[in-house]
This record gives sequence, structure tokens and C-alpha cells, in this order.
Amino acid sequence: MSEVLVLVDFQNGAVKKPTFELLTLAKRLGEPSAVFIGGSGDAAGVAEAVKKYGAEKLYVIDDAQIKGYLVAPKAEALQQLAEKVSPAAILIPSGAETKEIAARLAVKLDSGLITDAVDIADGGLVTQSVFAGNYTLVGKVTKGTPIITVKPNSAAPEEAAGAAAVEEFAVTISDAAKTAQIVATQPRQATGRPELTEAAIIVSGGRGTGGDFTAVEALADELHAAVGASRAAVDSGWKPHSFQVGQTGKTVSPQLYLANGISGAIQHRAGMQTSKTIVAVNKDEEAPIFELVDFGVVGDLHTVLPALTEAIKQR
Ligand code: FAD
Repeated sequence: MSEVLVLVDFQNGAVKKPTFELLTLAKRLGEPSAVFIGGSGDAAGVAEAVKKYGAEKLYVIDDAQIKGYLVAPKAEALQQLAEKVSPAAILIPSGAETKEIAARLAVKLDSGLITDAVDIADGGLVTQSVFAGNYTLVGKVTKGTPIITVKPNSAAPEEAAGAAAVEEFAVTISDAAKTAQIVATQPRQATGRPELTEAAIIVSGGRGTGGDFTAVEALADELHAAVGASRAAVDSGWKPHSFQVGQTGKTVSPQLYLANGISGAIQHRAGMQTSKTIVAVNKDEEAPIFELVDFGVVGDLHTVLPALTEAIKQR
């Protein structure tokens, strides 16, 4: 059975959940092998994590030559690995940096690329949600090694025993790939909450909060959820842009999205429409958001959310 390479999403010393989702999807295409670009000292921990989700191998590309540079060296490293193992496909978690890596890799391997997949079926049929979630598109790469970036929360990670045999893979990075250096990085302010694009549950607030996110945040904390915001809330200066969901913000696809005091403008929908279950609280029963929800509550969020938070606490 051919290998399917899965790029490990490793941040702050831990393997992130999208890696396990991709390993689960990879099994539909072949034998999953994880690829870790990072310090060799972290390899044992990564192997421990990915073996529980069926990775038979873990290729470790030590980042000594790569660290400190933007995406080009990573694309080159993956190219060299792909040329050695001839994988059936390469799966990459969707993200700003990783999609650029995927695009560069596709050019280098002269292969087809599909970005922001929400599902992958046996036979390599890839599902995307396009035009602000109004259409579902099923496609397939027909040239070279299929390279597919997958949105977080697209699959439920399934545990499966793998060997996760560690194999160091040495790469040679060209000078041409080392042209853009990282000068400084600033970590996201620690909120104790999950990252918006990875969260299984998101509680969002809009203009209807009137700038008071207390009830939204209390519910989010009770549900171990991330907090999101509409552009109106961001433009009002109530939350930073990193919280914005929508066309000009982040695209999210959680298991549960709670929209509070958000009218449901098309540009907001564009970023959250593929959420598995959508719940809205809005005091206007005519609000467009109610057209797309699974459950809706007509009411004042400052009353409904504290009651909901209290009810969850009691469980
Ligand atoms: P409003 O539309 O004003 O809705 C507020 C809602 O709160 C209303 O439905 C009201 O009934 C309800 N409400 C009021 N008080 C309460 C209460 N106490 N309890 C319960 N409900 C209450 N928007 C985004 O969100 N993300 C984007 O990325 C984005 N990109 C854009 C890009 C472009 C090019 C353009 C033109 C617009 C974009 N917008 C985006 C803006 C978008 O069109 C809307 O203006 C915005 O989403 C509205 O935010 P809102 O729903 O919070 O506010």
C-alpha cells in the first residue's frame, strides 16, 4: 500500500488536533506516514502522539537549516521527501503558511493541488465548500501527487495503532530558498482558550452585544470554546481583528457555532457556514441568521446566555 504523507501541525511543544484528523483521512488513501519539520529533540513526543492515530512512520526533518526562514525551505524539504517515497498523496493542514507551502510544493512536484478540503473519500475524491458555503464541490487531482490542504475540524480523529517508526530524513536546502528570513515573531496573547480556527466549539458575539462580551466569554469558558466576533464588533474596537469570523476574517468549521447578536450578513456566513451545528441567539426573529441555524433562540443575549451558562454548570 502506498504511503500518504501527513504534515504534522506542531505548535508550542505539542502536536495539534488537525494532524490527527489528517491521519484519519489519510487512511482512506493509503498508509499514513507523518512528517515532522522541527527539532529532533521533539521527535519522540511527536512519534508518541501520531502512533495513536495510525501513523506507520514518522519522517523527521530536522529544522536546523530551515528554522528562521519563511515557507520556501519547508516546501523544498517536502519536495525532496516526496521524490524519495513517491507518496499516494500529501495532506497538509489548511493555514496561511501551510497553504503557501502546499502551493510551492505543487509547483515543484508538477502536481495538482486542492485547498481547504472538508472531506476526502476513498479513491481520492475531495470535497470543498465554496462560494461562501453555498455550493459543495467534489473534485479530484488528476496530475502528479495529489496535494490536499484540509480545514481543521473536517474529520473526527479516530484512534488506530500505528508503528510511528522514526526515520530521520536529511535535506539540502538551496540558497534560493533562503531568501526570506523571519526577523521577529510575536506569540498570540495567551487567552487560555483554543485557537479560533481549531476550536471544536465557537461562541461569537456581534453588534448585539453592545460591546459587552461578558456573557459570550462566560459561556465560551464553560464550553471550553473559542470566542469569535463579527466585523461590526471588531470595527467597533470591542475585539481585535484576530477574532473576526467571515469573508475578511477567519474561516471556521467547528462542530458547534453559537452566533449571538449577529444578524447573519453574507460576509459573516462566508466564514462559518460550514459549521456542523449552528445556534443563534438574536432578539429579532426576522434576523437572516435564523435562515441557516439548526437551533435558534429569539431573545436578549444578555439574558439567554447567562441562563444557558448556568444550566450547563448544573449538569
Ligand atoms: P448587525 O448586522 O448590526 O446585527 C446585529 C444583530 O444583533 C441584529 O440582528 C440585532 O437584532 C441583534 N441584537 C441586537 N441587540 C441584541 C441583544 N441584546 N440580544 C440579541 N440580539 C441582539 N462581517 C463579518 O462578520 N465578517 C467579515 O469578515 C466581514 N467581511 C466583510 C467584507 C466586506 C467587503 C463587506 C462589505 C462587509 C463585511 N462584513 C463582514 C460586514 C457585514 O456585511 C455585516 O455588516 C456584519 O457582519 C454585521 O455584524 P453584526 O451581525 O454583528 O451586526
